[in-house]
Amino acid sequence: MKAAHARTVDANARVRDALDFSDRADFDDARRGFLGTLPHARIAADAGGDAWSLEPYGFLAGDAPDTVNPSLWRLSQLNAIHGLFEVAPRVHQVRGFSLANVTFIEGDSGVIVIDPLQFTEHARAALALYRQHRGDRAVRAVIYTHSHRDHYGGVRGVIGPDEVRAGVPVIAPMGFTEESFSESILAGVAMRRRAMFQFGWSLSPGAMSHVDSGLGKGVGRGADGFIAPTRLITQAIERVVVDGVPIDFQLTPGTEAPADMNLNFPTLGVLNLAENACRTMHNLCPPRGAKTRDALAWAKYLDQALDTFVPQAQALVMQHHWPVWGQARIREYVAGQRDMYRYLHDQTLRLMSHGLTPREIGERLMMPSALSRQWFARGYYGAVAHNVAAIYAHYLGPYDGNPVNLNPLPPAVSARKTVEYMGGADAVVARARADFDAGEFRWVLEAMNHVVFADPTHRAARELAADAMEQLGYQAESATWRNSYLLGARELRSGAAAGAPRGVAISPDVVSVLPLGSFLEYLAIRLDGQKAQALAARIDWCLGDDADADVQRITVSHGALNHLPGSHGDAAQAVVRTSRDQLARVSSGREALLAALDTGALRVSGDRAVVRALFECLDEFDPMFNVVEP
Ligand SMILES: [Zn+2]
Repeated sequence: MKAAHARTVDANARVRDALDFSDRADFDDARRGFLGTLPHARIAADAGGDAWSLEPYGFLAGDAPDTVNPSLWRLSQLNAIHGLFEVAPRVHQVRGFSLANVTFIEGDSGVIVIDPLQFTEHARAALALYRQHRGDRAVRAVIYTHSHRDHYGGVRGVIGPDEVRAGVPVIAPMGFTEESFSESILAGVAMRRRAMFQFGWSLSPGAMSHVDSGLGKGVGRGADGFIAPTRLITQAIERVVVDGVPIDFQLTPGTEAPADMNLNFPTLGVLNLAENACRTMHNLCPPRGAKTRDALAWAKYLDQALDTFVPQAQALVMQHHWPVWGQARIREYVAGQRDMYRYLHDQTLRLMSHGLTPREIGERLMMPSALSRQWFARGYYGAVAHNVAAIYAHYLGPYDGNPVNLNPLPPAVSARKTVEYMGGADAVVARARADFDAGEFRWVLEAMNHVVFADPTHRAARELAADAMEQLGYQAESATWRNSYLLGARELRSGAAAGAPRGVAISPDVVSVLPLGSFLEYLAIRLDGQKAQALAARIDWCLGDDADADVQRITVSHGALNHLPGSHGDAAQAVVRTSRDQLARVSSGREALLAALDTGALRVSGDRAVVRALFECLDEFDPMFNVVEP
């Protein structure tokens, strides 16, 4: 880690001059209604060590150092405020115990838990803190606002299967389970590796390193679980009375998550906009990767909430960051959030219609100054350039329309030719050093990326690329950009940390409710298509023994695994029978499946050889694949 370059010092000073740091209203709101907390929000992990602690962030005091964008520094201080807070009578939140917030609504006989955080330990500690101050109320319902893990992974910290069997409802928006599986099972391996950059998991806290994650301090660690919803919201606006509390659910599919909803509490004067309004410009496609989000739908659902619910709201809570109080302020806030996404959407399409491509639009598009002076519209999690690219891709896909980009050479091949044309690696590094001194960090990084991809062993190029990434990280207002640049710099200097286990298992809780079809999707994306291209197989796979066993017929041909419900009948070459427990044990992949076949743990009738041939064509993934080098 190196000191801030003079140009970084200047850039951060310009941010300090442009924004009104004397406005401390957010600090007042973030502390309003404080009832108590745990020292440093420290939560022990069941497996040992800390599941969460803000103690290492004690350095976040006073003015921003040169190595942190002052606007991000301010947010980092706000996100370090933690504890139980009263929002309104019967409405409380625990904030700063996880990446997200948990909201507690007091019903007639107990408490309704909205979004039980990411890990069991986080949620358990939050509920205990709540009960310490508000009495030992039983959990009468759990609500998941949307299909992202930081909002449901800790559910076992607040209820277990016994409560669900006893009738405690678990309420979620339509499509919740499918969408959460889609992220964690299909795209999970690549998304986890990319998320390491976005959240900077392995960066240690420090003024030259990790300060925040934009939506909250960080991800933390712990045990995660899954309890499937028992009651889905399916109407555009649907009223349900939960433990005596009327709730108007507003479905908002395609916004911050594919399955998503807002909640209004008409008798409490409280509106919950889930993660559809946060005190940041959100991401229309996070750097970790996701299906692109629909900025237009996002703006329209906020407009509907503004029209329908805001007129009765005296307090607005969200599942990240701190609340907004008072009609006028809520109105201004929701209208500002709506306009932010609408503006990004419409202006991107306008500039796209002039023929500009994503990088050009990202450089050109300026937010209206009245909006960009609002702290809640700053890009702490999303960023304009990245959001513009997401909107473009949402309508036009990843290709920018210029035929040069129809079939470009892969990065390493292109890099070797580029470096050769530029006079060789040493010459490029020498020129880039002068540009580094002049503060041209974006260009230096682009040039050095060519050298590193042409020759990953070129030490000087790696070091200079790392230096440029680091300065860009120090300047970034977006926490996700800062974390990405700083982890990129570290991996260029010392390589990606090797070592995580190669098989990536699905959480046993997820397997316990996973439809067999979803498990087969998981196998299908692990099939090495070239290796399997000559394999022709018809296999029945049965999950469970009884009459309601889940049966799927697998057909493998042309290196592709397709499956349909039901049996091949007499045409099946083999039948595989598993229990859910066995499925959990083999979910780590090829080696586990082959071992289960050999020991007989996986019961196969018919042609075992065809089942073995299928398993042998399955791939294993390295969860620490290279990102900043070939
Ligand atoms: Zn979230």
